[in-house]
Order: sequence, then C-alpha cells, then structure tokens
Amino acid sequence: MKKMSLHWKILIGMGLGVLFGALAANFGFKQLTVDWIKPFGTIFINALKLIAVPLIVASLIKGISDLKDISQLSRMGGRTIGVYLLTTVLAVMLGLAIVNIVKPGASVNEETREALLSGYADDATAKIEMAQQQSQQGPLQPLVDLVPGNIFHALADNGNMLQVIFFVIFFAIGIILVKPEKSKPVKRFFDGFNEVVLKMIDLIMITAPYGVFALMAALVVEAPTLDLFQALLWYALSVLLGLGILILVFYPLLARLVTGIKWIDFFKGISPAQLVAFSTSSSAATLPVTMERVSEHMGVDEEVTSFVLPIGATVNMDGTSLYQGIAAVFIAQTFGIDLTIMDQLAIVVTATLASIGAAAVPSAGMIMLVIVLGTVGIPEAGLALIFAIDRPLDMVRTICNVTGDATVALIVGKSLNKIGPPHVKEWDDNYEPPQT
Ligand code: ASP
Repeated sequence: MKKMSLHWKILIGMGLGVLFGALAANFGFKQLTVDWIKPFGTIFINALKLIAVPLIVASLIKGISDLKDISQLSRMGGRTIGVYLLTTVLAVMLGLAIVNIVKPGASVNEETREALLSGYADDATAKIEMAQQQSQQGPLQPLVDLVPGNIFHALADNGNMLQVIFFVIFFAIGIILVKPEKSKPVKRFFDGFNEVVLKMIDLIMITAPYGVFALMAALVVEAPTLDLFQALLWYALSVLLGLGILILVFYPLLARLVTGIKWIDFFKGISPAQLVAFSTSSSAATLPVTMERVSEHMGVDEEVTSFVLPIGATVNMDGTSLYQGIAAVFIAQTFGIDLTIMDQLAIVVTATLASIGAAAVPSAGMIMLVIVLGTVGIPEAGLALIFAIDRPLDMVRTICNVTGDATVALIVGKSLNKIGPPHVKEWDDNYEPPQT
C-alpha cells in the first residue's frame, strides 16, 4: 500500500484538531483540552525550536565550508539579500494597492471603533511598550546587535539567530582559509553532526500530525469570541487577498519562471512546511521543516538552503510587510486620517525595515507595526482595532513568509546552478544501528 504523504497526514491532524477544539468548547471540555492536549502542541513547537540552533550551526558550517572560495560566498550573499529586499518591497506595494482600492476602514462605524478601542486597549498598550523598547535605540544598533560579545550567550537564546548566523559564517570562512589538512577533521565532524540533526528532524516530523492536532485544538478552545469580527471582515479579507496572491500566484509563478518547477510540484514540496507555519505562527520554529523540504524535496543544494533559509527566516517576511502596509492604512482610514503619497512611500520603507526587524515568532509583526504607525503619525492606540483578528492573520502571513524564503532559495539555487532533482533520504528499513 502506498504511504500517505506527510502533508495529508498533517492536514487531517489539523482538521481533527479544529473539530475537537470546537466540540470541547461547546461541551465543556475546555480546561481538559488546555490541561491534557495543549501541552503536546507546546512539546512539538519546543522540539522544533530545540533543533533550530544545532541545525543552523551544522548546516551552515557544512554549506559554506564546502564552497571553493570566499567569492562564491559573497556572490550567494549578494543575490540572497537582493532578492529578499525586492520581494519584500513588492509585497508592501501590493498591500498598499489592495487597501487603497478596497478601503476596509471606510466600513467601520464610530460605535464599533469605540468598542474595539476600549475592548483591546490594554493588549495594545502592552505591544506598544514592547515596540518602544526596540525603537529607543540608535540607528546603528541593529548592526551592533549582529556581533555577539559571547557566542554561548547568543546560542542560548533562540531570539539571537542573526548573531548565531554571523558567528557561524565567520567560523566557516576560517575553515575555508586554513590548510586542508587542518580543516578536514573539523569539516568531517560538522558533516556528520549535520546528518544526525537531519535525522532528528525526520523523527520530529513523524509526530507532526499529532503536534498540529494539539496546537489547533488548543487554539480553537482559547480563541476569543469574535462578535466584532464583522467590522473587521473587510480588513481581514484584504490581508488574506494579498497573502493569497503572494502564496498561490506570485511565488509559484516566479519559481516556475526561474526554475521551471510546476505549480503542483512547488506545493507538493513546500506544503508540509506551510502547514507547520500555519499551526505554529512562527517561521523560526518552522525553519527545520522548511530546510528539509527545500533541500530534499525541491532539490536545492544544501550549500544554498543552509545559507539562504536561516537568513530568510529571520529577515525576509513578505507576508508581514504586506500586512503592516494594509494594517497601517486601515487604521488611518478608520480614524479618518488622509495619507499622502509621501506617507504611503514612508510606509513602504518603514514596513520593509520593520518586517526585517520582526522576530520570527507569533505576533512579532504586530509589535513592529507600532513603529510603522509612529513614523507616519497614525495613532498607535489604533493597534487595538486589529487585535481581535490578529492571530489567524498571523498564521497565514507566516505561511507567506516561509513560502517566500523557499522561493528565494530556489531562485538563488538556480542562479548558482545548484539545483537538481529531489533526493529524499528515505528510511533504510534494513539499516541497523551498530551494536557496541
Ligand atoms: N509570525 C510571523 C513569523 O514568524 C511574524 C509576524 O508576526 O508577522 O513569520
């Protein structure tokens, strides 16, 4: 019998999770679900996060040290950053086009606005405070933050991915530059380490359908009741329309034009990562899955994926930048503020930077939105308007972020001629680990 593919298993897990959550909410099993089901979702996310740092270290060292010389690295780096920036700017512009045409803010009446503003004021204030801590820094602070003072400190915190990436690239450049007889044992060690980490991801992915079941069930029982949902319907639809265009049309088309990959193969390759992104709302937690899918199932050489994807998960968030563009203008429309062309251009620039600065974790895009609002002079308290509906939109924008990273990995892979047929490492059923 043919084995069911992973994305179907995950989808079934998600569907059953939603169903279970809905039944639990209606039949009084809410607490039971929170106590006995939700922890398995948390364990699944933790397992993915647990593997993220070792994976970045092992695969980036392997990927870069396999390069022949430093010029190859700078070529790959230049292309990666260039394409990432381009797609992010395009995404905000798409968002602005949609929100200016649909005008979702125009349909919110005075009464609903007041209800939303007062209902979510506290939550909004908490996010505004978080954003203020970030924005009080000098202009060069992001650059300073890139270089860790202590590597173990950076490794100890999943929020410091860029610092880890910086150290690892630096270390790998060192490997390229020393004599082969010295670098060989170091490289061999990390090659083996990398294989082990990839196998651990395979093992974690076996549990993915159960993990997403638990995540979705918990999400449904804990969801706020959305009686104000109607008012936000047009706003939510605008964001979903933009994200849908990027995910279903723009990326697969771009990938097709550059690499020739068919629409269906693109989705067969990336869909398990998209489903994990949807369930976890975190590109960082999804990174191990994205890397496995793009290298093994879409055929991009590990040299490329190990470089492009960890950087992408941290800095390339097209879904987030599109959402920030739409949300900023929506809030302005609701308050009756007219935005000039210059204001909208300022949104393009700040949303691009804010999405780069956003951490790859749930709700990070909303925190950074405060900075966009502040720059253009839109009241930050307006965040309360969109709070109620943010989580589902976060789930979809995370799919978009992950799909964007995968697309850029395909493009960079193709441009460097480092793309081949998929090479799934299947389980070798006859393989016995050696007995000692
Ligand atoms: N949750 C998103 C991500 O991890 C970031 C965001 O909040 O937009 O990609």
